[in-house]
Amino acid sequence: MIDKHAFDRTLDEIHRSLRGLAASGHRGFDCTPRALEKLEQWGRGPQYFANTLEDIRADLGDCQRCRLAGGRNTIVFGAGHPAAKLVFVGEGPGFEEDQQGLPFVGPAGQLLTRIIEAIKLDRDQVYICNVIKCRPPGNRNPEPDEISSCFPFLERQIAAIQPDFIIAMGAFAAQTLLGTSTPISRLRKRFHDYNGIKVLPTYHPAYLLRNPDKKRDVWQDMKMLMREYRYED
Ligand code: URA
Repeated sequence: MIDKHAFDRTLDEIHRSLRGLAASGHRGFDCTPRALEKLEQWGRGPQYFANTLEDIRADLGDCQRCRLAGGRNTIVFGAGHPAAKLVFVGEGPGFEEDQQGLPFVGPAGQLLTRIIEAIKLDRDQVYICNVIKCRPPGNRNPEPDEISSCFPFLERQIAAIQPDFIIAMGAFAAQTLLGTSTPISRLRKRFHDYNGIKVLPTYHPAYLLRNPDKKRDVWQDMKMLMREYRYED
């Protein structure tokens, strides 16, 4: 006879192990020695996830987890202060970012630099990254399976940095982080919670380049951030 409780516990354990592997960037039944070692450590305490950004970048490797690998020039992991109090999350690399391997270095990036300066910070004090790390062909929107392959790495980056605030730029960043399909226009103007971190959704700088009248809204959002951000720390 099957002991239902034992069965449920086993199912829980399998579920937990698979989530552990997914969170460390593995897909499917990955039986490489590295994956098995991680599986063994899973559940043995918080130090398991106390990875550095370098560890996470190493796990990402020459990522082939989704079809975007085929069309990219470089992986755009993220850049900035490894213990930033404020993280900016965008959608995914564009042409310039794919060429240089750095986030937000094209036209939208120049506007982001001005936004960061307007809130009395500079790019070295914050961390900038994206939901997906490879440029989609023709800058198309990321597909759901591409987002699910990449999101565990963003989650780990955020866990490593431990920021107080995240600015989620655009619908993809805000909806992915908050696990919702609510439009960005209804998510902005207030803080949301992501694992104890205050998330402020706002419009993406690329959208502002096409709709300059929306800059006023982003400035409202940035003023809300500045009221909460403790510059003296
Ligand atoms: N747009 C993004 O969402 N991210 C970048 O890095 C550049 C443009």
